[in-house]
Amino acid sequence: MITQAGQNINSKKEPLSAIPVRYVKGVGPARAEILARLDIGTVEDLLYHFPRRYEDRSRFCTINKVKVGEYATIKGEVLTAGLRRGKGMALFKMAVGDETGVIYAVWFNQPYMQKMFRSGDKVVLYGKVERYKDIQITNPEFEIIKDEAEEMIHAGRIVPIYPLTEGISQRGMRSVVKNLLDKYLEEIEEFLPQDIKKRNDLPGLKQALFNIHFPESENLRKAAYERIVFDEFFELQVALAQRKARVKGADDGVAHKVGGELMGSFKAVIPFKLTDAQKKAITDIENDMASTKPMNRLLEGDVGSGKTIVASYALVLTVSNGYQGVLMAPTEILAQQHFMNLNRSLSPLGINIVILTNSVVDEAREEAKRMIEEGRANIVIGTHAIIQEDVKFKNLGLAVIDEQHKFGVDQRVQLKQKGFNPDMLFMTATPIPRTLAMTLYGDLDLSILDEMPKGRIPSKSYWVGEQRREGIYKFIAQEAAAGSQAFIVCPLIEKGKVLSEAKGKKEDLKAATEMYGKFKKEIFPQLKVGLVHGRLDNEEKERVMADFRSGKVQILVSTTVIEVGIDNPNVSVMLIENPERFGLSQLHQLRGRIGRGNQRSYCILLSDTESEEAKKRLKALIGTTSGFNIAEEDLQLRGPGQFFGTRQHGLPELRYANLVANVKQLEIARKEAFDLVKGDPELKDPGHGQIKEIVRRKFTGKTELKA
Ligand code: ADP
Ligand code: MG
Repeated sequence: MITQAGQNINSKKEPLSAIPVRYVKGVGPARAEILARLDIGTVEDLLYHFPRRYEDRSRFCTINKVKVGEYATIKGEVLTAGLRRGKGMALFKMAVGDETGVIYAVWFNQPYMQKMFRSGDKVVLYGKVERYKDIQITNPEFEIIKDEAEEMIHAGRIVPIYPLTEGISQRGMRSVVKNLLDKYLEEIEEFLPQDIKKRNDLPGLKQALFNIHFPESENLRKAAYERIVFDEFFELQVALAQRKARVKGADDGVAHKVGGELMGSFKAVIPFKLTDAQKKAITDIENDMASTKPMNRLLEGDVGSGKTIVASYALVLTVSNGYQGVLMAPTEILAQQHFMNLNRSLSPLGINIVILTNSVVDEAREEAKRMIEEGRANIVIGTHAIIQEDVKFKNLGLAVIDEQHKFGVDQRVQLKQKGFNPDMLFMTATPIPRTLAMTLYGDLDLSILDEMPKGRIPSKSYWVGEQRREGIYKFIAQEAAAGSQAFIVCPLIEKGKVLSEAKGKKEDLKAATEMYGKFKKEIFPQLKVGLVHGRLDNEEKERVMADFRSGKVQILVSTTVIEVGIDNPNVSVMLIENPERFGLSQLHQLRGRIGRGNQRSYCILLSDTESEEAKKRLKALIGTTSGFNIAEEDLQLRGPGQFFGTRQHGLPELRYANLVANVKQLEIARKEAFDLVKGDPELKDPGHGQIKEIVRRKFTGKTELKA
């Protein structure tokens, strides 16, 4: 309907996300600039700018009951007030009385305060009670009650305390938020279906948003927070569910045939009995690969749980179907190791494997590329070099990414695009709990290797101080004399190249090059000592690693380049220098390099650290060998942002919900979201229109949810 003014009054109101915040009463252009510093640009931004905490100023205290040194909320009437100036100072003092007594409110250097109050005004004061000459509150929060029915926002209630920036006070922020709610609260549209709210006992959106700012009670505040957390998880999970449905919906993947002669010969050469977990993962993968829908599966397993054989199985399966397989690893060393292992076990079966890394150059590189393009290479193993544009596959059937968290989202996508909807298998050695994994990689199916191969003797971990250093050197020498090998891990490559993070404190960090020299000349002159770190050229690295594998090098001094995947069952000792410098999960990964054979092995953390945080990490590490426990502990200690490295993983930043504390809500929201998308994959139902819009607005353009 068109009105005379030509306005279409049936047209939808502008969404709050499209209205600039300066239109909120009390904001205006100047304050809008201040708010912009808090990333608040629109009415919606301000609406979702939540208090960081609250103060309960709702319990009134009569003046005769106030206690010096404690905070109190009192209600009374302004009796007298006066401004005194002197010595460059202004003091405004006001007497407030109730039926039980008199108290003073005092403001320093705020002469304008005298304009705020008139005798007879009813006021509420909140602040810390002090005694000078009189009982007084300095700089109290206050509220002038004009009309008993009108809501108080600064005192006399549970009061929000906001994150601020220079130029706006708590009082100012509270007022503009209140103005916003007065004007726009009624325009907030509910987007959650009624039945979801009901099932989960969630308040409506309006009520939640009001109570998150100005809680009418602690219970209502809690309920409001539950709703906000639910929304945040729910929106994310709807996006993931849709993405998953889209991948699954594609029907043009490679349908592999399972079984066959080659698979039979492969199974026959596996030198050990698979664990039940490995068998289960292989079945999952076979089912996925047999389907016309592309596989999109994450294989999660602690270090040493045997992911490689599972990946090999899948690679051989694609080859037996006449396709090519690719395995991409994050480091040259790891790619080399995979190449050697797979080549040893698979080339006797007539499978052709090529390696492609940045150290494969010139004619060798051209030949590798030709073999890949012409399909003569059945399996390609390599690093990022594989995803370069000039590398073309003939018919890629399966892509495996090892230590997938070391790759960016784009790189994973680029690998996928080397084929036409190839099956994808991602592997990770960060064993996070299932629910979290599903959230983080919510669009992937999940197989977990939660069982170690039998017959392993778990490594023992010790944390010792400097005074034991000599003894440890002796122990390493003994082990070497008995035919074992050792890793010595240092936090730095060279001294002085990395600034110490400890503020102002001089730290004596061990550097690999320096320790190498010392070990070789002074401490283990009788042994062969090697050095490997990230700045060596690839040829050098390879040579050292090969010598270490063959036993020519007995002691390998290294940085964390050995963190991922290196497999040498003959190593019995790992000495970690300055372990306080490493993260918990990282230490666990490092430790995973030993205990891979059938002799007892030892991980020794040498540290006199005084940092409480570091002590916690070291204690946690020696307390358990389970990667799942470690991951959970690490997550608790560091928080999800740090733990996952949000950017890297592409997990959208959670603003209100906490992955650790709110994991139950996460499960619930996930279930609701997946159910909703199951019933209405494209969110076509008009009742889901808002959710669709929110998900579109918040998650499209985010690579990790697009792909
Ligand atoms: P990760 O999961 O850390 O990649 P690997 O695949 O490198 O672990 O396996 C670690 C070691 O365990 C390798 O030497 C591998 O040959 C061996 N292994 C794997 N599965 C089994 C098994 N079922 N029984 C015995 N040894 C196994
Ligand atoms: Mg591995």
